Amino acid sequence: GEFTEEVEVVVIGGGPAGYTAAIRAAQLGKEVLLVEKKKLGGTCLNEGCIPSKTLISVAKQYSTIEKWAEMGMNISDASIDLPTLQKWKQEKVVNLLTQGVAGLCKANKVNVVEGEAMFANEHQIRVATEHQTVLYNFQHAIIATGSVTVELPGFSPDGTHILSSKEALELNEVPKHLLVVGGGYIGLEIGTIYRKLGAEVTILEGLPDILPQFDNSLTQVLKRNLNKMGINVITEAMVVKEEKRSDKEITISAKVKGELQSFTAEKVLVAVGRKPNTSGLGLEKVGIETNDKGFIPINNKCQTNLNHIYAIGDVAGEPLLAHKAMYEGKIAAEIIAGKASAIDTETIPFVIFTDPEIAVVGLSKKQAEEQGYQVITGKCPFKANGRALSLNDSDGYIEVVADAETNMIIGVQMAGPEVSNLISEAALAIEMGTQLEDLALTIHPHPTLSEVMQEAVENAMKLSIHTI
Ligand code: FAD
Repeated sequence: GEFTEEVEVVVIGGGPAGYTAAIRAAQLGKEVLLVEKKKLGGTCLNEGCIPSKTLISVAKQYSTIEKWAEMGMNISDASIDLPTLQKWKQEKVVNLLTQGVAGLCKANKVNVVEGEAMFANEHQIRVATEHQTVLYNFQHAIIATGSVTVELPGFSPDGTHILSSKEALELNEVPKHLLVVGGGYIGLEIGTIYRKLGAEVTILEGLPDILPQFDNSLTQVLKRNLNKMGINVITEAMVVKEEKRSDKEITISAKVKGELQSFTAEKVLVAVGRKPNTSGLGLEKVGIETNDKGFIPINNKCQTNLNHIYAIGDVAGEPLLAHKAMYEGKIAAEIIAGKASAIDTETIPFVIFTDPEIAVVGLSKKQAEEQGYQVITGKCPFKANGRALSLNDSDGYIEVVADAETNMIIGVQMAGPEVSNLISEAALAIEMGTQLEDLALTIHPHPTLSEVMQEAVENAMKLSIHTI
């Protein structure tokens, strides 16, 4: 039978966007139902950000063992036990976080239902759980259904030879040779993990360069290190088809700069992008518009074309990042609770957890000039920083971009150690309209990596002490 219940706010999807919106709406006094068909935490906690960063940090520690001898530390036979690592990752990182989300929902009185939601009409949602179907009358709905991987025709993940990013992050054995199709950040991050754990890694990228949206000098630092690590990055390489496979190997063909070549590997990771997850939601039925790429367009209050229905996170468009998803989740909840709130997406940091890491926020010099700014820049390399040298990890630099008229910081570009953590100061600076002088006058503790930021600012002011 079908029950009908009343609810103020229904949130569809329990990823970073959805659980954040649900908790914030509940904090602001709303009665909230959160519907999740798989696992709380969504892509990010279960198969994206968190599992990948866990393996990245372990692979990084493992790979630095090579550098130990020069620093006087000697250990004999280090080895990696992947099943133990995977178990630890699942139990001590992922599960802890997803259970944490469940606990937070409970503490905030968010009603979590495991089931699949679809719109019945503009004010009703149908939720199919294992045992029953319930119809909910809602006042506000928030669509937070995220994104799914784009498949390459003829290369559907089969869990053995052809892997999605999810499966690649769950391997229990380091492949002898991993072929990565797609040189975006996901392919680069996972390729780096398995290279550091001992795999031979080849990355095929269709475009003339990897990460074309970033400054060339920034990606240059990364490319140098990919090369040094022995990762083979092949650009202008378009995959054609599978040629043959055996138990242990798969051979595919690709057009490289127009010429047909074949590549044999133990596993192929397909990481060619993500697309919005809207199938089966019944959007057409209620008249919720999507754009040509399938994303749900929203205004600065996260409202769809129906103003009592919101969309947030990956399903609402680029950038497909967890912190953008959580940010929109808070805004949507605040709007529903009657607060004055709006999205401002100019200072969303973008981080790539490669080695070295890359992190940017605001405008690059080129972008700023294209927008008509008169620009001043300042740069400081990590080689000039005592802490970076003591970590034996000093590739890269920080570049600050400021508006010459106002001296305000409008962008920061980073490549180097821990820049994923350092970028937040830059985001704050831009968000607060900080002038170069303010940051230069802020005393940064010595010796820390954060001094490179201060030094880059001083360099822009032509007052730097430790760089020329
Ligand atoms: P999701 O996390 O995808 O959650 C959507 C949820 O909705 C899912 O749990 C799904 O089961 C549920 N759902 C869908 N349809 C229904 C329905 N009809 N009924 C009920 N439930 C439904 N981002 C970063 O910021 N930093 C990173 O380092 C990073 N690394 C990544 C690494 C990988 C390998 C991948 C794949 C992604 C990574 N991302 C990273 C991106 C990040 O995971 C996403 O931006 C983020 O998860 C988006 O959150 P979301 O809540 O919009 O969607």
